Amino acid sequence: MDNTQGKKPLPSLEFIWSHLNLEGTVQVGMLKCPCHEDKNASLSIFESRDRSRLLWKCHAGCGGGDSVDLYAMVKGCSRKAALRILTLTPKEIVDDFTAHIVRKSKEALRDDTRKPTFQFSLIGIDERIAQLAELRKIPQEGVALAYRRGLLGFGSHEGYAAWVVHDSSGLNIQARRLSGHLWWGKSKSHTMRHSKASLPVGLRECYLAKVVHITEGAPDLIAAHAVIAGMATPEDHSAIGLLGASMHPSKAVFGPLEGKDVVIWAHSDSAGKKAADAWTKSLFGLARSVVVLAAEDVLPGHKDLNDLVASQTGMRVILSKLKEVGHA
Ligand SMILES: [Zn+2]
Repeated sequence: MDNTQGKKPLPSLEFIWSHLNLEGTVQVGMLKCPCHEDKNASLSIFESRDRSRLLWKCHAGCGGGDSVDLYAMVKGCSRKAALRILTLTPKEIVDDFTAHIVRKSKEALRDDTRKPTFQFSLIGIDERIAQLAELRKIPQEGVALAYRRGLLGFGSHEGYAAWVVHDSSGLNIQARRLSGHLWWGKSKSHTMRHSKASLPVGLRECYLAKVVHITEGAPDLIAAHAVIAGMATPEDHSAIGLLGASMHPSKAVFGPLEGKDVVIWAHSDSAGKKAADAWTKSLFGLARSVVVLAAEDVLPGHKDLNDLVASQTGMRVILSKLKEVGHA
């Protein structure tokens, strides 16, 4: 126990006992415990080992300790709160409490208003679009469409050239390096601080579309735009990106997809298929229809939509598959 804490020296057990108007006088021996119906004085008072003060212990099991512990037990507060009350002046208690409230409300305010930021650049966009198309093997018109629709941006993070997926809500920004290298040799993607990572990217932008393509991860979101660019009526289609298979938006989050036809482009791995199942469930009763297309079912041996779009025959197979389900 910490007896040096606080600004005033700790009060004695004798002082606290009388301060609390408890029965009897504190001295070494037995007293009635103030914390239980005590018929036979079962609270012992004894000297501390260094004989500097008196301590107590209830043999019926209420507890024991020094004057602060007694105060805390009788008042039903924590030892920390008891220390504050017993060692601070009334003004200090009020100041302490006020500071606590200010701190808490600042924290609450910050959580609600802070948004992720990214250093966007508008210079050399055509070159960067070409560079990303080359890096991900996605047809250039698809990358350009994603950029025009406001779901793709370019700039830098920590001094590295980067491409990001984001949308007009500004709530979720995920960056990848334009060189294709990992961030700090560790991860492919970096979610910018204060992002709402579980929020789908592109929800606001899909309100006019009849068919919405749900994709997993930033590369597939861009790849979906290559598919859309290849459609007879691209304006009827839009794509949203869930930036990870573990993101499971609620029905409420998926609200903007009400009455729309949805195509889910599932990754071929088990996490991807599980995610597609969960998203389908959330969309039940909300979307007009939901079709799940797993990459390996579209073309065997392919792992995701980016992979399909990058393959030589992929685009043709995708478009015929979409025709088959009535969406192209
Ligand atoms: Zn007791």
